[in-house]
Amino acid sequence: MKIRIIGGGPAGLYFASLMKRENSAHDVVVYERGPRDATWGFGVVFSDRALEFLRADDEPMVQLLTPLMETWPNLTIAHNDTPIPVAGNGFAAIGRLELLSHLYAHAESLGVRIEFDSELAALDHPALAGADLIVAANGAFSWVRNENEDKFGTESDLRRNRFIWYGTGKPFDSLSLTFRETGHGVFCAHHYRYSPTMSTFLVEVTDATWQRAGFADMDEAETIRHCEAVFAADLDGHPILSNKSFWRQFPAVSNRQWSFDNVVLMGDALRTAHFSIGSGTRLAMEDAIALWKALRDSESLTEALALYQARRLPPMTKILDAANASIRWYERMDELIRLSPIDFAYSYMTRTGRVDHDEVMRRDPKLAAAWEHGHPEIFGASY
Ligand SMILES: Cc1cc2nc3c(=O)[nH]c(=O)nc-3n(C[C@H](O)[C@H](O)[C@H](O)COP(=O)(O)OP(=O)(O)OC[C@H]3O[C@@H](n4cnc5c(N)ncnc54)[C@H](O)[C@@H]3O)c2cc1C
Repeated sequence: MKIRIIGGGPAGLYFASLMKRENSAHDVVVYERGPRDATWGFGVVFSDRALEFLRADDEPMVQLLTPLMETWPNLTIAHNDTPIPVAGNGFAAIGRLELLSHLYAHAESLGVRIEFDSELAALDHPALAGADLIVAANGAFSWVRNENEDKFGTESDLRRNRFIWYGTGKPFDSLSLTFRETGHGVFCAHHYRYSPTMSTFLVEVTDATWQRAGFADMDEAETIRHCEAVFAADLDGHPILSNKSFWRQFPAVSNRQWSFDNVVLMGDALRTAHFSIGSGTRLAMEDAIALWKALRDSESLTEALALYQARRLPPMTKILDAANASIRWYERMDELIRLSPIDFAYSYMTRTGRVDHDEVMRRDPKLAAAWEHGHPEIFGASY
């Protein structure tokens, strides 16, 4: 099969590898507009079980990635100066560039050709001529999807909160969500270590807070200084670091039809999942597995593309519903901060509807008991 893939992120790279592993005679090329050694953002986090989805189909990949990850068993939700540690929520994180570097090497070792610095901008581009399958894995702002919205039945909703993806040299002890009230509104930092010396430090605010703080009129250095001042107690003097960091709004994207002719969507081009549930990369890799299996199990491309969507939709929808509930929770943080620290942490834990009281009790009996009995003092001074 002649397979051409637009976009060398986790979705495109992993799909390329799976197809080559299946049959080395496949002719697979990935076109990536960026250079090999640069990417946007800092580290990405996987929820504890996230790599389990790989184990059944790709144990070597689990073995490759696991040692590269920073891991920790707890989550910390800080309500201003009150940190609430929440047990039973293991996470793992890895630098985005490190993840991609290993995916490049893995794909190339299997015989995939990756063309860096190659931006494809039209489906009639000569590089795509004669392809049996064209995979649009070019991310949340995919032009393949945007230019064919009628065929894909695309729904897109630019959410109102603003976020900016920074890093810092302070290695935090756990995955942390720190919420700080300021005169302009609540600032939330999603921060976690992804290497022994680096952490992601993503700042999110509501649109009203963003307007009141005057970010529209600040340049990059002023924006960093403002965020450093808000989170001074958390950063311990470590500067905030930028990597093509700018304020963005989250595009919540979904599609009713995932393919037309020989063109198929995958990863963020297919659907976006809010970063607060740590599942975008996992979903992208699961899409790759699903399409690889659908092709393996089908007699024709048409059948495979239909099977890909039919099999993948139900499990994907569950995670997407959770991600969308999480988006709405963050959009209410200016109001939710009025809860007591315990109620706030409990509200956070149950925000997606996938964790009910029994599950909180199973994961962290102390938090469940404090919430039930309204006796936060049983936790001791740190509460
Ligand atoms: C702020 C933020 C934080 C996040 N945090 C997490 C997290 O903690 N955990 C997690 O799992 N996920 C996280 N995500 C989501 C995760 O990054 C994505 O879900 C994941 O990268 C999707 O993979 P992908 O391959 O579909 O797309 P991408 O990773 O976006 O890759 C698409 C690639 O296509 C290339 N490209 C685009 N257009 C073209 C073109 N015309 N020609 C050639 N190449 C092109 C791009 O350069 C890019 O390399 C986060 C996302 C954001 C924005």
